Amino acid sequence: MPSASNVNLAAALQERGALLDGHFRLSSGRHSNRFIQKFRILESPPLVETIAREIAEHFRASAPTIVVSAAVGGIVLGYEVARQLGTDAIFVEKEGGVATLRRSFRLTPEDRALVVEDVVTTGLSVREVLDVVRSHGAHPVGVGVIVERGTADFGVPTFALLEMPIVSYEASACPQCAANEPITDPGSRRN
Ligand SMILES: [Zn+2]
Repeated sequence: MPSASNVNLAAALQERGALLDGHFRLSSGRHSNRFIQKFRILESPPLVETIAREIAEHFRASAPTIVVSAAVGGIVLGYEVARQLGTDAIFVEKEGGVATLRRSFRLTPEDRALVVEDVVTTGLSVREVLDVVRSHGAHPVGVGVIVERGTADFGVPTFALLEMPIVSYEASACPQCAANEPITDPGSRRN
């Protein structure tokens, strides 16, 4: 049973066009009847502020010293969570296909890192951020996400504002393909 705030968030996302119903080809190649256009969330400062507040308050007692996210969507959310926690915000990006800290960003063994991400499906990008955090000897205090679409276990306390398990099909088993519904390719996604 979703909480009242989850219902409100889902309604807000629907209203902004962040939750799309249709027939979509995901980056995995699988087909789904739902797609989350996360930048319909991230383009709204008041909505990001509200979402970030829930994440920041959830983890404030864990005393994070820094917020770490993954480029690109996580940067916006991570910055606002960090602003509310009074910490810096840094992000992980790919260099030669490997997730790493660039731009002279630093993490130290004294750091307590809060990892934030917008939408988690396979959990790959969050795991990459956690690997970077640990490789610098920093302690990951938790993972905060807006929408959880899978059942990833990151081995640290994880908080999601919205649970929306993904339902997808191989093209050959897709009921919407069977009904000849035109398919949409919703564009670049990271996971
Ligand atoms: Zn299909």
